Amino acid sequence: MFKVKVNEETCIGCGNCEHVCPKVFSLKNNGKAKAKSPVNEKCVLKAEKECPVKSIEVKKI
Ligand code: SF4
Repeated sequence: MFKVKVNEETCIGCGNCEHVCPKVFSLKNNGKAKAKSPVNEKCVLKAEKECPVKSIEVKKI
């Protein structure tokens, strides 16, 4: 299981996390991403790695 957090202060709403891991991430009306948590999807690791502004924090639990 992974605990997933998006830092809304720094998220620029590029949508990559939603693209690589749509079951977990979605963009809100304010243009920021939100994440379901906790989840089993391994794609959260790819999303974390690829976030251009390092706004995703994933912890294995
Ligand atoms: S990849 Fe990062 S900057 Fe882009 S929407 Fe997701 S959290 Fe925000």
